[in-house]
Amino acid sequence: MKRYPFIAGNWKMNKTVGEALELVRGLKSSLQDMAEVEVAIAPPFTALFPVAQELKGSSIHLASQNLFWEEKGAFTGEISPVMLKEIHCRYVIIGHSERRQYFGETDATVNRRIKAALKFDLKVIFCIGETLEEREEGKTFTVLERQVEGGLKDLVEKEVKDMVVAYEPVWAIGTGKTATPEQAEEVHLSIRRKIERLYSREISEGIRIQYGGSVTPENIKGLMERENIDGALVGGASLKAETFSRIVRFKEM
Ligand code: PEP
Repeated sequence: MKRYPFIAGNWKMNKTVGEALELVRGLKSSLQDMAEVEVAIAPPFTALFPVAQELKGSSIHLASQNLFWEEKGAFTGEISPVMLKEIHCRYVIIGHSERRQYFGETDATVNRRIKAALKFDLKVIFCIGETLEEREEGKTFTVLERQVEGGLKDLVEKEVKDMVVAYEPVWAIGTGKTATPEQAEEVHLSIRRKIERLYSREISEGIRIQYGGSVTPENIKGLMERENIDGALVGGASLKAETFSRIVRFKEM
């Protein structure tokens, strides 16, 4: 089945508003004729609104790096789905390993956030991935199954249909170590099979699975050649227009 490739840039806690606008302008000009790949960028919260303004009329989508499950209220430091909808945010990254590692995110809170995003018609980039220790102990597939089951708990077919899963082995994030295309493909296939068992073949074949973990212009092509790798979630290499654009233009290499 042909799935439309999807490359997203996660800027994490980088870029002031001025820097963000400069980067977006660079991306708009280098990706203006890009039609074969869907592109999204996830700036930090302070830059979301100005970046949304700058993206008007462009095919680059806006993504948030997180969201809270309540609509409003006394939740200091959080951002609501309503606020993200208002500024035309299309995607939200949920369950990134840095949220799990440093901010107490669990499968249960990931599940609550996913439900809130779907309720407000935000598309979800659902991150999962094993740590180095878990991989070395041979627990990769068990951990991923648990994360998929927990994150998607109580969700029905029509809710997961448009979801994007990002497989990000924690040992490959920001480390310069990439999973080989073979390693990634093996895991992507297992995630697809798991989704098929939970839902149906139709659903699992339609869901896009991105790879994330030290993706660069040099390694993207090899990854994208694999049948079950449908895109990438890019951290470090998304912070420069030139490198991110080369990743998005992987087909031209
Ligand atoms: C990420 O944070 O989603 C990521 C994959 O980071 P990096 O590309 O820097 O490894």
